Amino acid sequence: MYSTLQDTTLLQSDLARLVGAEHILGPTHPAANGIEPTRPAANGRQGGWASYNHDATRTRGLYGRADLVVCPGSTAEVAAVLGLCYERDVPLIPRGGGTGLAGGAVPLGGGVVCSLERLRAIRELEPTLWRIHPEAGVSTRHVQRLARENGLCFPPDPGAAEQSQIGGNVATNAGGPHAFKYGVTGNWVTGLEAVIPPGETIALGGAYRKDVAGYDLKSLLIGSEGTLGIITAVRLRLMPAPEAALPLISFHATRAQGCTAILDVLGTGIVPAALDFLDGEALRMAAGAYPGGLPLEAEFALLAEVDGTLEEARAAHAELATVLGSSAIELRRPDRGALWEWRDRIAGAVCAMRGGKVSEDVVVPVERLAEALARFEEIATRHGLRSCAWGHGADGNLHANLLVDPRSEPELAAAEAATEELFALAVELGGSISGEHGVGWLKRGQLARQWPPRALHLHEEIKRAFDPKGLLNPGKKLARPPAAMPSLASILG
Ligand SMILES: Cc1cc2nc3c(=O)[nH]c(=O)nc-3n(C[C@H](O)[C@H](O)[C@H](O)COP(=O)(O)OP(=O)(O)OC[C@H]3O[C@@H](n4cnc5c(N)ncnc54)[C@H](O)[C@@H]3O)c2cc1C
Repeated sequence: MYSTLQDTTLLQSDLARLVGAEHILGPTHPAANGIEPTRPAANGRQGGWASYNHDATRTRGLYGRADLVVCPGSTAEVAAVLGLCYERDVPLIPRGGGTGLAGGAVPLGGGVVCSLERLRAIRELEPTLWRIHPEAGVSTRHVQRLARENGLCFPPDPGAAEQSQIGGNVATNAGGPHAFKYGVTGNWVTGLEAVIPPGETIALGGAYRKDVAGYDLKSLLIGSEGTLGIITAVRLRLMPAPEAALPLISFHATRAQGCTAILDVLGTGIVPAALDFLDGEALRMAAGAYPGGLPLEAEFALLAEVDGTLEEARAAHAELATVLGSSAIELRRPDRGALWEWRDRIAGAVCAMRGGKVSEDVVVPVERLAEALARFEEIATRHGLRSCAWGHGADGNLHANLLVDPRSEPELAAAEAATEELFALAVELGGSISGEHGVGWLKRGQLARQWPPRALHLHEEIKRAFDPKGLLNPGKKLARPPAAMPSLASILG
């Protein structure tokens, strides 16, 4: 924890001079009664002070305790806040929409949470140049909507788009179902503005599409999870919206057949815009929410989509149907909106089964996906946990889920042991510990499994170069395990 109450009071009044007292929340604030509102406050806040103490990892019981929450209203205010905190040796935790799945925005050691929610301006939208320049706090969905309204498309589509912010997406380099064809968020960033210690604003890149001048500092900030700087605005490229996007679902009798079907699709040379999967358990847990029901005997499903001109999409759709149909027990041509809406709700449906879930997002070479899924199930069973998986099949990116009661310490401990084995498995199969959610707090130190010592050292040196005092999101995205690693169960909120 940062300090005594007296210090916090002093800090609060100094921060209030920078951003206005109404934009600071603390545990002593009248709204901080520990009861979370069920929806964001009318002023655009995510809720009271308590709602800034967790992210989406609350489903596994992860809570921190912020000394203060500050909501600056401009880049200049972000710089002033960072400057003050740096001068006073106060940890600062950048926060977007709080949908992260690695605990990156959770104030586990106290400190000041810096929420970007008030940076919501669109600085420029230039449809004929296929460009948009939103501030960090604009929601992902709003960026997608603005692009669509102008005949364009912003392809990255992480699941919690209504709540997540574009700054958070850049900070985590978020992916999503359409990343297979179109790449992850970072592939669409041509420039960004960030505040870095000890409180300086820098602009990297710009409104141009190519840039090989200097080391790629922009890409260092992309995916840095709030540990190198606070992103305040991003320049994104857009693309003309495809004329048509045609979805398909195939249901397969076994996991092995479904994974082979993924390889068959790739082998034909069809480039699906998306090729997601669900295993049988996930399918059955989420079936109730699917309009018209699903074949419950299936052990694997593929959610595929092809796009392009109407003619191209139709031709690819027919070819896809032939390839998937050759091994599927059933093929469906669903309504596109309903399909992806349902896909977004799978995590919630799975979580509801036991009240919580521990979810990891390892990635393996696509031809090892079947083996990864089978061995994950074996690991979960050995630890006495029910499991399921879904994910971005063509990317080899599996969201491996362990169902837990988040109040049960033995279940959380079993899940933690199982995820350790899962990380080891991913690396053994030639993959990575995270395909899209990042390292955050939950995977701190796990990079040491897959990087050589010299690379780990460089990772640490980069952190020191940006943040010599180590005050920006401390304890997150650590390359090597810290000396004392508290277990998840031991910090249960
Ligand atoms: C239902 C559901 C589905 C999801 N599906 C996907 C998916 O398909 N693909 C995917 O990649 N992720 C997915 N996620 C995870 C999550 O939505 C993404 O990681 C998202 O990019 C986080 O954005 P956020 O604004 O909520 O960030 P937060 O959770 O607030 O923060 C995430 C990290 O970024 C840092 N950060 C946030 N904003 C800034 C900023 N402006 N400057 C510097 N650092 C910042 C924080 O410190 C933290 O380390 C899903 C989550 C949920 C709950």
